[in-house]
Amino acid sequence: MFDGEEFIFDDRRDTYFLGSEYFARQYAQNPPAHRYEWGVLLDMVGDAQLEIYQEKYSMSWPKTRLLVQRIWKTADRLGVKEFIPRRRYEIRDDHLPLNTTAHIPTCDIIDFGYPQDSSFDRGKSYWHTTQDTPDKCSALSLAKVGWVVLEWLRTEK
Ligand SMILES: [Zn+2]
Repeated sequence: MFDGEEFIFDDRRDTYFLGSEYFARQYAQNPPAHRYEWGVLLDMVGDAQLEIYQEKYSMSWPKTRLLVQRIWKTADRLGVKEFIPRRRYEIRDDHLPLNTTAHIPTCDIIDFGYPQDSSFDRGKSYWHTTQDTPDKCSALSLAKVGWVVLEWLRTEK
């Protein structure tokens, strides 16, 4: 769990990934005895209308591409159709410092698609607004993602 991901007051001054950048720097500068083989970033996976595409950065690095393919294959085996095996969205997220600074192959599992809510002003997304309320979330979505990741982990050697 990383903090300060979007602790932004001024775009020109503040960085997006305070927690993960700090973690990645520490991991690189003071290597612990244990080494992480993989990282799986879970972000916005509680969407009630769950649709998880393969994130483009995660598909661009050979190691994380393999990781993505294994996880999506697990979802397919379990019949979790919300993991859609197509690329969509290129997301600057906490997996970037983990890959580039810490060198931990980390993929991003993220639902970045927002249904267009007709009740919302001019058909805009409710992301980053006060209209992003708990009714847009679902415990079942969280359970599905948790199940897929847990099952992938169980089969990972
Ligand atoms: Zn994020």
